[in-house]
Amino acid sequence: MTVAEERIDRLHDLARAAAADGEDDRARYYVRLARRVAERNRLTLPRSFRRFTCDACDAYLRPGKNARVRLQNGHVVISCECGAHARYPYEDRADGAVSDTGSESSVTEH
Ligand SMILES: [Zn+2]
Repeated sequence: MTVAEERIDRLHDLARAAAADGEDDRARYYVRLARRVAERNRLTLPRSFRRFTCDACDAYLRPGKNARVRLQNGHVVISCECGAHARYPYEDRADGAVSDTGSESSVTEH
């Protein structure tokens, strides 16, 4: 793991922690920092990071809080409260990020 990857990992943790505390602006700040580090180092953000952040407003998404998770035609659809949607193939869930029950309450926070 490179230094940049470690930083992104760390920022992801900070964003998650801030979001869990209800500090959405702080979470967004960490999300943006992580994106910038990735860009500068030409790194691809980890799948779990992309899955839990909104491309439109950089919010750290918490299913059941500021995001909704639905299953649709074999896709997982995550809707941010800003109105943006992200779709992922259903089988693309190596992180175990989204449970297959479609129930928001079944998605755990770490
Ligand atoms: Zn959003």
